[in-house]
Amino acid sequence: MSKALLEIVGRDSRLYIDPGETLREVANRLGIKTVEYIPTVNGEVVTWDYKVSEEDKVKLIPVISGGGGCIICGETPVYSYVGRVYCKKHFIEYIERKVLNTIYKYGLIDEGDHIAVAVSGGKDSLTLLNILNKYKGELSIELSALIIDEGISGYRDLTIQDFIDINRRLGVRYRVISYKDVFGLPLDEILRLAGRIGAPVYPCSYCGVFRRYLINIGARIMGADKLATGHNLDDMIQTFILNIVTNSLERILHLEPKTMSADHPLLIPRIKPLYETLEMETALYALLNGLYPRFIECVYAPEALRNDIRDLINHMEEENPGIKQVLLNSMLKIIEDYKGGETPKINSCGICGEPTSGEICRTCAYLDRLGILERLLDWRREVGLESDETIVSKKLHRQESS
Ligand code: SF4
Ligand code: ZN
Repeated sequence: MSKALLEIVGRDSRLYIDPGETLREVANRLGIKTVEYIPTVNGEVVTWDYKVSEEDKVKLIPVISGGGGCIICGETPVYSYVGRVYCKKHFIEYIERKVLNTIYKYGLIDEGDHIAVAVSGGKDSLTLLNILNKYKGELSIELSALIIDEGISGYRDLTIQDFIDINRRLGVRYRVISYKDVFGLPLDEILRLAGRIGAPVYPCSYCGVFRRYLINIGARIMGADKLATGHNLDDMIQTFILNIVTNSLERILHLEPKTMSADHPLLIPRIKPLYETLEMETALYALLNGLYPRFIECVYAPEALRNDIRDLINHMEEENPGIKQVLLNSMLKIIEDYKGGETPKINSCGICGEPTSGEICRTCAYLDRLGILERLLDWRREVGLESDETIVSKKLHRQESS
């Protein structure tokens, strides 16, 4: 008696079944959920009560993405998105290849580069660190990691130890730079000080400016050629929409996967290798690789408007899968069409010498207002960023001009 052939679409598997069984019996025997497939025989849709005949060609077509197995090997999927269904092994390969493709496509890394990864302790930067570490041979790069300890109790203190543990596990050289060491106070105390003297108390304004300042210096101290950050596709399109609703259109032109055009000897070029990777993908990748980020938010309220935009985009994505990628493509098209050839002018801060678009960098301006600028200048001297003479002459220059 000739057997019938059964093909399960999406699982890449074919097997022979005995005539006389109903399709429901076959499905039960194979552990296939009948609600997840449409049965067809010889090209015609049938019911699950169809009794299989000799030489039938039975095909089970998944009704939902993810209903079948991994599209490569048929194993149980862990990921399903716009037709891509992957098991753990093939999902990990898919993400790693995607990140490498982004690196090659936008020319983010050159052979021999020393890349410093700015780690926040969250899923994105840990995913990035893990992937660059895994492919450092293929990319021919030297790798190190940097974390800024802002001094936010209940948040950063929990992630610093994770950062150290992960770098030790991966064998990556790392450095921790703290606000307390550099500015003399952790962020929590800087905010209390600001409140006491009547200065504005916007945690993210201070924190963002200080953090950008220190990751650039940290990368330089570590001898890095480029600084890699964990910004993902969701981050980019949220910022894109945020800039539209706040009428900051010129900022959109800076949302590229690499920012290398600014010309200043102390400015380390920045790259975003997760530019085309979705937030949910980095979260899943981190979990599957045992990176176990804490998934905790900073205790200071994050930007409310950005959260609204994130919710809106996620809602749109649920209704129209793939729309996030379309938004990213639109943003890239705007950048390509409107970005001029001019390199932005970058000055040296009149106090500390770091790159700034104005005359005094915002870090020095904030610290000066808080009355704690001297500690920064001492720290710079301690770590050998400037000779005593340079700082003294700058201080004198400042006093004379004030
Ligand atoms: Fe800093 Fe604001 Fe981010 Fe908290 S949410 S880490 S205060 S920038
Ligand atoms: Zn400065």
